[in-house]
Amino acid sequence: MTLQARDAPDGPAGERATAAGELAELAESVSNCRRCPRLVAWREQVARERRAAFADERYWGRPVPGFGDPAARVLVLGLAPAAHGANRTGRMFTGDRSGDFLFAALARAGFANQAISVSLDDGLSLRDLWITAAVRCAPPANRPTPQERQQCLPWTVRELALLGRVRVILCLGGLAWDAALRLLVAAGGHGGRTLRPKPRFGHGEELAGESYALLGCYHPSQQNTFTGRLTESMIDAVLQRARELAGLGR
Ligand code: SF4
Repeated sequence: MTLQARDAPDGPAGERATAAGELAELAESVSNCRRCPRLVAWREQVARERRAAFADERYWGRPVPGFGDPAARVLVLGLAPAAHGANRTGRMFTGDRSGDFLFAALARAGFANQAISVSLDDGLSLRDLWITAAVRCAPPANRPTPQERQQCLPWTVRELALLGRVRVILCLGGLAWDAALRLLVAAGGHGGRTLRPKPRFGHGEELAGESYALLGCYHPSQQNTFTGRLTESMIDAVLQRARELAGLGR
């Protein structure tokens, strides 16, 4: 499958509506997936037991679909939902400190209409950007197995095909970078070639593909942001670079 810009028989508005409808169908399918027994058991156990601070909340407890602008040119790729973040709220990077840092940066860069993301009905909207993850279910210790990563890959391949306009995959962390490399090969976005030697992840690292460019960014984990490994100015610079690579204005 070669990924190209979508055909647009009804012009940009029709194209966007078609993409939105198909992405909504995909989100419905994703959120009902039970392919990985270990992850199904874990996400549901976490949702039943809950953290004391969220004891009166109803957890999502299902696979978390991607979300954002169907006409996005930039795709933000994480590894997997956090047990008490996205697995609780049902939106990627929402409900934890990583998300607080990320959405503030997205707002500064002009990709988000607000700097906070706390729930599915908080009014957040994204422009020119889509957020997803390589694995859709919260894994124990934030570590999906290689088999689980492989089983979830087709969801992202399909999502990328439906998005159609993506030109930059912004990888949050080395595991997301590895997932994006597998995605490029699986989706035919790198001429169908295997990537050997494997391009190394680094903050600000770029890989120019035939259909997409990969761009690396340290993960906005508390460990990285509290220690200063990832600062606001560092993520701002990466997001500006993503805009440039995607042909978006500043
Ligand atoms: Fe399905 Fe992906 Fe969740 Fe596995 S990780 S159950 S493939 S949504």
